[in-house]
Amino acid sequence: MTNYATHLNALDARYHLHSQTNAVAHQSRGALMLTGGRGVFVSDIQGRDYLESMSGLWYANLGFSNQRLTEAAHAQLQKLPAYHTFNHRSNDVCAQLSEQLAQIVPLDDARIFYVNSGSEAIDSMVKMAWYYHMAKGQPNRRKIISREGAFHGSTIFGAVVGGLSHMKDGFNLPATDGVVRVSRPSHFREAEKGETEAAYCDRLIAEIEDVIAAHGAESIAAMIAEPIIGAGGVLTPPKGYFSRLSALLQSHGILLLMDEVICGFGRTGNWFGSQTFGAQPDMIAMAKGLTAGYIPMGAVALSGAVYDAIAAQSDQLGVFGHGFTYSGHPTASAVALAALEQYHEMKAPALTARRGQDLTRALEALATDDMIGEVRVEGFIAGIELVADKASRTFFAPELAVGRRFENNALREGLIVRNMGDTIAICPPYIISDDEFDLMITRLRAALMTTR
Ligand code: PLP
Repeated sequence: MTNYATHLNALDARYHLHSQTNAVAHQSRGALMLTGGRGVFVSDIQGRDYLESMSGLWYANLGFSNQRLTEAAHAQLQKLPAYHTFNHRSNDVCAQLSEQLAQIVPLDDARIFYVNSGSEAIDSMVKMAWYYHMAKGQPNRRKIISREGAFHGSTIFGAVVGGLSHMKDGFNLPATDGVVRVSRPSHFREAEKGETEAAYCDRLIAEIEDVIAAHGAESIAAMIAEPIIGAGGVLTPPKGYFSRLSALLQSHGILLLMDEVICGFGRTGNWFGSQTFGAQPDMIAMAKGLTAGYIPMGAVALSGAVYDAIAAQSDQLGVFGHGFTYSGHPTASAVALAALEQYHEMKAPALTARRGQDLTRALEALATDDMIGEVRVEGFIAGIELVADKASRTFFAPELAVGRRFENNALREGLIVRNMGDTIAICPPYIISDDEFDLMITRLRAALMTTR
C-alpha cells in the first residue's frame, strides 16, 4: 500500500463508524478505499479496477460515469440548487418529475410524495397508511403484516417492520406487537419435501388468511412486501402469489404497500416488480434507481383513492403534517429526470428482460457445478445458492461463512458481488456490455473455483 492509502485507511478507521459493518473487525481489516468509477467498474486508491456486478447497493443502473446525470446536477446547481416543498412551494423540475413518475407507476391516478432514501419512503408509506385509515374513520387499523427475511431499511420503524434480526439486535427497539410476521417465500429453502410450487403458494396464502382471521381484518392497516426480497436473499415469489395476495388484502380493506426500492425502474423486466408479479398495490416505495444512486432521493407513489382520503384529512386538520426539508429537492429531481429519460431511451424494462435471459443462460451453465444448489433470475437480478451437497440439498454450516469467502474471493478476482449468508446476489448495471458481461461470468466462475 502507498503511504497515502495507508494514511486514508488510518483516518477511516479512526473517525468513521461504518454502516452494516463489524466496527471492531474493521479496525484491522481496513476499508476497500474507492476513489473512482468508470462505466461498470469502480477503482480503489491503488488503481485496481473492480467490475461492480451489484450496481453498488442495487442502484447504479447507469454505471459510475454517466455524463448526462452529472450534467443535469451541474446545470440545476447553477439554476436553483435547493428549495423545499413545504407550504405550497414547488419547483419546475419536481413538478415535471411527478408527472413522469405518475405515468409509469402501476397505480390509478397516482400522486408522488418525495423523501431522501428508501428507509424514509418505508416510514412515510406506513405513516400514510395509518393516516388513510384515520381519514376513513378506522383508527383501529394499525397492525402491519410483514414477512420474515424482509428488508425495509434502517429507520426505527423500517428495522421493526423488517424481518432481519441483525437489524434489531442490540438496539432495544420499541415493541414489535404492531407487526404481524408471516413466512418469507422461499421454495428452495422452505418448501416441504416434494411440495410443488403451486402447493407451496397455497400454503403461504393460507397462512396469511389465517393471520388475518386471527387478528381481525379491522385491526390491520396494511401488508408491506418487496416484489423480490433483496437483502434477505433475492427471494422470488412462487407463481400467482402476489395476485392472490392482492385480491385477499383488497377483500379485507387492507392496503398493499410494495417496497420497490430495489425492483423499481426496470430491474425485473417491467417498470416495477409489482407488474412482473401481478401485484396490485395501493402505494409504492422507491429510491435507488430513481436517481441511479447519483444523488439521494426516494419517493412514495400513492393511488388516487389513497391520495383523496389523505387530502380530505389534511383539509380537516389544516395541514398534512409530514415531509422533509429536502422533499422534492430540485437538484435530486433534475438527476431523477435525467435518469428516467435514459431509462426510456434504452427501453429499460425490455432491456433487462433480454439481459435477464443472458444471465439465466450463463448462471445455469455455472450451476452445473456441485456447489450451486439453485440460481434464481428475474429480469436483471439474480441469487445464487451455494450448497454443501446439491443432491440432498444440504446447506453449509453457517460458521463456515462460505458466502463471505466467496465474496472475498470474487473481490480478489476483481469482481464485486454481495453475499447474504450463502446466497450470492448479482444485480448488474443495465449498461454492461457483452464483453463486460462475459468478464463478470468468468470472474464468478473463478471465485467459485477458489471457494471450494
Ligand atoms: N427497502 C429495500 C427493499 C432496500 O433494499 C433498502 C436498501 O437497501 C431499503 C428499503 C432502504 O433504503 P435506504 O438504504 O436508501 O434507506
